[in-house]
Amino acid sequence: MSLLTLDAVTLRSQHYRETSRIVTFYSRQRGLVKAVAKGARGKRGRFASTLEPMQRVRVTLSIRESRELQTVTQADLLQPFARIREDLFRSTYAQAVIELVGRLMWQENSSEDVYDLLLNVLQAYEEGLGDSQLLFFAFQIHMAALLGYAVHLERCAGCGSALGGGGTFSFPQGTVFCRRCYPGEGAATSISGEAVELAIQLGRRQGVAAASVLSPSREVRQQTARLLRHHLEYHTETDLALRALRLAESLGSYNPNELPSADLKGVKN
Ligand SMILES: [Zn+2]
Repeated sequence: MSLLTLDAVTLRSQHYRETSRIVTFYSRQRGLVKAVAKGARGKRGRFASTLEPMQRVRVTLSIRESRELQTVTQADLLQPFARIREDLFRSTYAQAVIELVGRLMWQENSSEDVYDLLLNVLQAYEEGLGDSQLLFFAFQIHMAALLGYAVHLERCAGCGSALGGGGTFSFPQGTVFCRRCYPGEGAATSISGEAVELAIQLGRRQGVAAASVLSPSREVRQQTARLLRHHLEYHTETDLALRALRLAESLGSYNPNELPSADLKGVKN
């Protein structure tokens, strides 16, 4: 048994037995880690609110390599991301980010780049830096690239022409073709010129900044959301119907101003 201190983001915190919690972390050093926090329940419990989901913590674990579940011995809150929780849209999409990391990463699959990306996007939500949904798209595009399934949309993969008029996106290849070049095989979807342009902008290094100036139509957003979800699902063979997004999708609206606040009471992340 050994002690290990990690820089981590809490993804989930579930009740466990009478007084404990099982906490899922995504850590810089070890990727996904699950640990029991004994006596963590209740306001005055050990670790109090330090182990709530969506916080950055420094956590010390007692590690036994043969076990799937480690034990928390100490936890300090580094960044509570409290302002994300003040806004329904930001918290919904930040929660979707958290859920996506939990589904796409697994033990033994650690990546410092994914950790940095996770922190960057949470920081952007914390500071209210852009359109919440576009930030989520930018996150998915960068995440896909880090996992080895980058999307390439700059030009037609066949003839190299620009795709202002849209084209056909091939999921296996992660590339887009103009109507003339599309080979007509494998899973694919058609994509409009506006959605191509949006994904290109968000996929650049300054994708977060782009999220604060672009204002695509609802149709383009829906098309982009579908494309990114199916692309990740295709390559990871993981169902990505995210709980966090069910509300936003069921209301069919991504504009905070269109949402009556009365509908949102009692909604928990
Ligand atoms: Zn072409």
